[in-house]
Amino acid sequence: MLIGGRQVIGEGEALHSGDPVTGKDLEPAYHSASAAQVAYACALAADAYTVYRDLAAEQRAIFLECIADELDQARDELVDRAHTETALARPRLESEVGRTSGQLRLFATELRTGLWQGARVDPAIPERAPVPRPDIRQRRIGVGPVAVFGASNFPLAFSTAGGDTASALAAGCPVIVKAHPAHLGTAEIAGRAVARAAAATSMPRGVFAQLVGGIDVGQSLVGDPRICAVGFTGSRHGGLALAATAASRRRPIPVYAEMSSINPVVIMPDALRTHGARLASEFAASLTLGAGQFCTNPGLVLALDGPGFDEFVDTTCEVINGSSGATMLTTGIANAYRAGGGELAAHEGVTELAVGSAPDTAAGAAARLLRVDAADFVANPELQAEVFGATSLLVVCADLDELRSTLQSLEGQLTATVHAEPGDHEAVATLLPTLENLVGRIVFNGWPTGVEVGHAMVHGGPFPATTDVRTTSVGSAAIERFLRPVAYQDMPGDLLPDDLADPAPDGVRRRVDGMLTVPAPSGKEQQP
Ligand code: NAP
Repeated sequence: MLIGGRQVIGEGEALHSGDPVTGKDLEPAYHSASAAQVAYACALAADAYTVYRDLAAEQRAIFLECIADELDQARDELVDRAHTETALARPRLESEVGRTSGQLRLFATELRTGLWQGARVDPAIPERAPVPRPDIRQRRIGVGPVAVFGASNFPLAFSTAGGDTASALAAGCPVIVKAHPAHLGTAEIAGRAVARAAAATSMPRGVFAQLVGGIDVGQSLVGDPRICAVGFTGSRHGGLALAATAASRRRPIPVYAEMSSINPVVIMPDALRTHGARLASEFAASLTLGAGQFCTNPGLVLALDGPGFDEFVDTTCEVINGSSGATMLTTGIANAYRAGGGELAAHEGVTELAVGSAPDTAAGAAARLLRVDAADFVANPELQAEVFGATSLLVVCADLDELRSTLQSLEGQLTATVHAEPGDHEAVATLLPTLENLVGRIVFNGWPTGVEVGHAMVHGGPFPATTDVRTTSVGSAAIERFLRPVAYQDMPGDLLPDDLADPAPDGVRRRVDGMLTVPAPSGKEQQP
């Protein structure tokens, strides 16, 4: 573990990551944090917060870039260990290192824009009748120490130095990571990279910690009064358990949990008729990518029976029947996958259309395609349960109305995908309000797997996709989760934070009386 910038051995039981190929424990053992060690990490984070949140944005940006450099330098070591712990392919892991360091650099850029601070100035109007208007200025500050739960399916980009950590550190919040037990060695290597960067850039020593442990450690962390927000990616059960703990604290805190989504793909009639076979191959590729272990995996396909439908189904079945499967992240996840797929397949009204083969490994799993009529699907909400992995359910709709009512019956999702030709657009326009209500991202003529990290991305959505529909966990807007506004009324100029003082510092954009302004050469702010 890492506490106070130093390597620390946990005082609790020994844990091992498993090898998903052999099913055997991997060395070395990592020991769980004791309650005292969790509390100590939280105390250091609370101390660090008072200094870290007030550092100039530039200093935090340099820290993030230094972590990115350290990760890039540790790339080979990270990829080797992550490959052994997760069975994810090396090229995928190599690109995940780049994605992780790229995210950190994106947040450095975001910090330098100053826009994250949301500075607003409503100057005083002393002559206003019947009461004068006070001078009110607003900015946003980090909420305080953040607990981050590493995800099993992204050992780098959603784990120790992943998106939740990067966005919280950018916001001025110290971070305590609970390493995912499936890849403790990868977490250790990434954690050391963060610690080296923190030392090199003279960050306060409690700015980052990483703990090892099971449910008890995660629960104590979220229950600690010094933790002010939580970032989580994983199961609905785990996310809801942590949200319940956070809500029942004496001082409840927000939990940004990204949990379960089956990501409906709607194939409109003209698209099906004109290129059903191509869509089938692309769909099968998206479904089986990375053993289907993506939160945006296309677990549901909605189509109208009509021209092109049979071709779409036949081609998909051909690809899936011929697929050789993959080793999943852990034996636990593979067992849950097999059980969940089996339950779906055994459900009345559901038929199995295709199943591939599975590698002979402990966590080996086969891709699967199932089919159900829309009426049965809508009548049985349990058919919406996420089967994490390469299983998808094809829902056959009689007409556009049934397609719409099927979409309206769905729980919240991260994504919805629409395949449509111009001849379908009139019908698609009538579906858009339903889709907007349902998801955080609508993908047009593409596939949901592959989440671009940028400024406009939304990786979020209504429950149970997440516990908070207002935000994203990917992209620079993720910083918003860990900021809160503070207003300063009639504050003397020499006490105001620099970015709210007059004249506005170079490069600081503020909303003055509601209008966006930039500093002008004259020293006065003007509208851009
Ligand atoms: P998980 O079981 O939810 O675990 C994620 C993290 O939360 C782990 O560190 C886990 O600790 C902790 N945790 C779980 N339940 C907790 C509780 N009640 N109190 C405190 N901490 C708790 O998810 P997972 O291990 O990544 O995968 C299991 C399943 O999650 C998959 O089969 C899949 O269904 C789903 N999943 C979904 C996504 C997605 O993006 N939608 C991504 C990954 C996984 P311990 O391991 O020590 O319990």
